[in-house]
Amino acid sequence: MKTIGVLGIQGAIEKHLESVAAIGCKGLWVKTAADLKKIDGIILPGGESTSIGKQLEWFGMMNPLREAIAQGLPAFGTCAGMILLAKDIEACTQARIGLMDITVRRNAYGSQLDSFITDLQVKGIQGKIPAVFIRAPRIEKCGRNVEILASHKDHPVLVRQKNMMAASFHPELTEDTRLHACFGQML
Ligand code: GLN
Repeated sequence: MKTIGVLGIQGAIEKHLESVAAIGCKGLWVKTAADLKKIDGIILPGGESTSIGKQLEWFGMMNPLREAIAQGLPAFGTCAGMILLAKDIEACTQARIGLMDITVRRNAYGSQLDSFITDLQVKGIQGKIPAVFIRAPRIEKCGRNVEILASHKDHPVLVRQKNMMAASFHPELTEDTRLHACFGQML
C-alpha cells in the first residue's frame, strides 16, 4: 500500500488524511524532515502560505522538502500549498518551495467573505467536481510544460507539471475524492 504524507503544519490536515484513506492509501501526518523518507507522495494543504513557508524554514524542512520534490517525490499543493509550489508569487518575496512554472496572485478571488463553491470540468474525469475557493490564489501565467487540467472563468485552477499537481481550491472539503485519486495515480 502506498503512503501519502500530508504536510502537518496548518490547514485541513485531517480532512486530507480522510480523503487519502478513502482512496485506499495510508496517510502520514508529516511533521519532520525525516518523515519525508517514509512517504510516496505529499499533499501540501491550504492555510496561510506566508506562515507555512516561515515554519518550514524554522523547522528545517524547506530545503529537504524542495530537494525531495525536485528529485521526483509527487506533490499536490492545494490553495496555499499551490502558492508554496509556485516559482513566482506576484508582489511577494515570501519563502517558497518554488519548483512549479506558474505565476500566482494571492487572494485574487477576494476575501474570506467572497468564498464560493463551483463545479469544475476536469480533464480525464467524468462529470464535474465541486471546488471550494477560500481566499484563493489565481494562476496568472503557466510555463509551456504546465498542463492545464481545469479552468474557471478563463484562468487555470488545476494544473500539473511532471510530479507536481496544484489546485487553487480545496478538494479535501467535499466528499468527492476523485482529485485525490488522480494524485494517487501519480505515485
Ligand atoms: N490566501 C492564502 C494565502 O495567500 C491561501 C488561502 C487558502 O489556502 N485557503 O496563503
